[in-house]
Amino acid sequence: MAKILIVLYPDPVTGYPPDYARDSIPVIKEYPGGVALPSPKAIDFVPGHLLGSVSGNLGLKDWLETEGHTVVVTDDKEGPDSVFERELPDADVVISQPFWPAYLTAERIARAEKLQLVITAGIGSDHTDLNAANARGITVAEVTYSNSIGVAEHTVMQVLVLVRDFVKQHQIAVDGGWNIADAVERSYDLEGMRVGVFAAGRIGRAVIERLAPFGVRLSYTDRFRLPAEYEEKYGLTFHESIEELVKEIDVLTVHAPLTDETRGLLNDELLATMTRGAYIVNPARGAIADRDAIVRALESGRLAGYAGDVWDPQPAPADHPWRTMPHNAMTTHTSGTSLSGQARYAAGTREILENWFEGAPIRPEYLIVEGGAYQGTGAHSYAKQPVHADEQQAS
Ligand code: NAD
Repeated sequence: MAKILIVLYPDPVTGYPPDYARDSIPVIKEYPGGVALPSPKAIDFVPGHLLGSVSGNLGLKDWLETEGHTVVVTDDKEGPDSVFERELPDADVVISQPFWPAYLTAERIARAEKLQLVITAGIGSDHTDLNAANARGITVAEVTYSNSIGVAEHTVMQVLVLVRDFVKQHQIAVDGGWNIADAVERSYDLEGMRVGVFAAGRIGRAVIERLAPFGVRLSYTDRFRLPAEYEEKYGLTFHESIEELVKEIDVLTVHAPLTDETRGLLNDELLATMTRGAYIVNPARGAIADRDAIVRALESGRLAGYAGDVWDPQPAPADHPWRTMPHNAMTTHTSGTSLSGQARYAAGTREILENWFEGAPIRPEYLIVEGGAYQGTGAHSYAKQPVHADEQQAS
């Protein structure tokens, strides 16, 4: 029997469960490209309910306890006296979410002597030290595709919010004002703008496909070039590097994983090469951007706006400058954890656990590292060297 340590974000301050706005969520049959949805043998939750907070427990607690496992569910993850720190040393499995990440540093992995499986209930496993996991032969898996479309939708929303200057216009309406001139002095149409996509994986491609009908001019960079038919279909221009990409665009959207190569990439030097008045939307990882360089670029006018939902660290401290910098449309880390997304990543987490308990293989698209090496999605998206330059799957 295993000990499963589950770290989730806190329940709503108004209590759990919330009053749901809708009675159900749409049934999706498959992911783009025919990729299968999570397929656990059973689920113990109502799709559309709040599963990502402690009381929702990803719908796992009753099932795991019935199976005889020990389950600890907590939101207390910071500091040496936290429940996470206390329970970690004899945990076999750790589950957490990027929205409220239980940071598994090399030091913590060294203390977690029994740890064999780390599951990201969502996408993006950079909160686990993947080199340390590899050195110990720990398996790291995530629920690939569970929230990719939701993040793409949030990205498109934030592009429009920035370019049209929605936040200020909404505030004028809320405040009882009507001054149209104030409301539109920084408002533009997206139509005709040049949009650059940094990393055309599952989310980047979904952004391309959703933005194309807006009549924008699309370009991208990725370490794997997309098939020619796909580029042609969306009128995509490929650039070899982000340095080449950013010189040519009005809007940059960011969808690469956080790795040694991407950390701090959006720095003063790169931002200085962008068109004056460019916008950035980064729903990938906060640490891909240099925090203070973004503030400086907004203050100088180099950037006209910055949005995203990812911060470094998470939760961001109350005095994080991105909360108050000019022309920001930041949200907390929510794009991948809509009630719709939660149903899919809760089901995918259960599928991974079922496989692991049975000794059955975990789907390659869920695997980041296994057996001491990057595997599946991890080999494609996280490993330092590209594996096969032609392996990119376009949906
Ligand atoms: P994916 O694995 O489908 O795609 C990642 C792409 O990044 C791949 O095409 C890969 O080739 C490319 N890439 C990696 N390193 C690169 C580099 N140095 N230069 C250029 N391209 C590079 O992943 P995805 O599902 O599209 O997710 C992308 C990232 O978005 C995740 O790693 C995660 O950090 C983030 N994410 C955020 C949320 C959220 O809620 N905000 C939710 C899901 C994912």
